[in-house]
Formats: sequence, C-alpha cells, structure tokens
Amino acid sequence: MSLIETLVEVGAHMLWPVSCPVCGAVGKLLCEPCLRSLFGRPPLPRCLLCGEVIPCKVHGDNLSRIRAGSVYEGDMRELILMLKGKYESLAPRLGRGLAGIFPRPGLDVLVPVPLHLKSKRRYNQAEAIAKGLGDVWGVEVRNVARWTADVATRAGMNAAERLSLSQDVFDFGEDVAGLRLGLVDDVCTTGSTLSRLAGAARARGAEVVDAFVLASAAGRR
Ligand SMILES: [Zn+2]
Ligand SMILES: [Zn+2]
Repeated sequence: MSLIETLVEVGAHMLWPVSCPVCGAVGKLLCEPCLRSLFGRPPLPRCLLCGEVIPCKVHGDNLSRIRAGSVYEGDMRELILMLKGKYESLAPRLGRGLAGIFPRPGLDVLVPVPLHLKSKRRYNQAEAIAKGLGDVWGVEVRNVARWTADVATRAGMNAAERLSLSQDVFDFGEDVAGLRLGLVDDVCTTGSTLSRLAGAARARGAEVVDAFVLASAAGRR
C-alpha cells in the first residue's frame, strides 16, 4: 500500500470508524483473523464442466476446476448477502483473502461473471471480488463478458431447465482468443453459470484455466 493510500485509509477511519462485521473489532472492515478463518477450510474443487466434486465421474480429474474459498453457510453467507447491499468495499477485501489461499495461477486475465441485463445493482460484486484477486496475483481484470439473453429468472428454474439454456447466453465485448482466463463469481450453486461462461469463452478460442468463487453451495465439502 502506498503512503497516500495509507493516509487516505487512516483519514477515512478517523471520519468514519469501521468495524469488522464478523467479530466487531474496530479498525478494519473485516479483520485479518476473521478473513483467515473464513477461508480456513476450503471445500473440494468442482468440475468446471458439470459442477461435480473432483474427481468428476464423467470428466475425470484433469480438467478446469471451480475453486471455492469456503462453503456457502454461516458468516460467509451473511457477508455475501451484505455484498449485494451497500457493503461493496467488502468485495475486494474478500477477493484478496480468497487469493491468499491459492498459489498464483498462470492467468492472463480475470473475467467476472457479468451482472444480469435487468439488474438494478450499482456494481458487479463479481468484478469487485476479481479486483481483489487481481491485486494479489498481479492479473488484469477485464469485464468483457455479458449476458445475451435475459436469464434473470433462472434462479426459479430447476437444474434441468438451467442446463437446457443455450451456451450462447454469454457474449464477449473483446477478442479473448489465445488468452488464459480465470473466471470469477461470488457464489457457485450448481456450477451451470460458470460452465456456460467457460463454454462461451472456449468457443471464442480462450483457454479457461479455472474459476474462483468465494463460496460453494453447502453439502459439497
Ligand atoms: Zn473480525
Ligand atoms: Zn464433470
């Protein structure tokens, strides 16, 4: 952190004292011990093609993975729900914590899952998480993916309906051919969003290395 950044942070604390949303300690939005404990027991990686725990019965072991920092429950679940509200400064902080538990991957670009077309949210939490990852790993974040169809209602679909969605639900605003991509989202439930985005990127000539999420659906440790 530069001196200017440190001074800005100190000044901000004097004006608006912050506290850790997990333990209540004053001083930092999400303190170091809480950040470490949130990512202290990451779940097993999942197959980026189908969402199954690795080794996947269909696609084997030697493939792109969905790497989660934690299970989607407890404090992490609460924090992710806060991200969707006004606590956007938590997102890069959680991204930095997530980056710390994995060796630096060989990536050219981090690509966040985009906001839905009809989203009213002020910011994309996946992009803000990606910025935290990119800061630690020294990887550029490019918000180049976008939804081509309104699938905002997919949360109400069952798994079979989600899988029937065309791979063309994503498009890219820039050429990604030849780039090694890491995909980023806040939560992975079935894995279908990330596998669609990976498929769309591969169809455009990108190499999708892995996907990184703060948390993965419970019951898959
Ligand atoms: Zn704390
Ligand atoms: Zn699989």
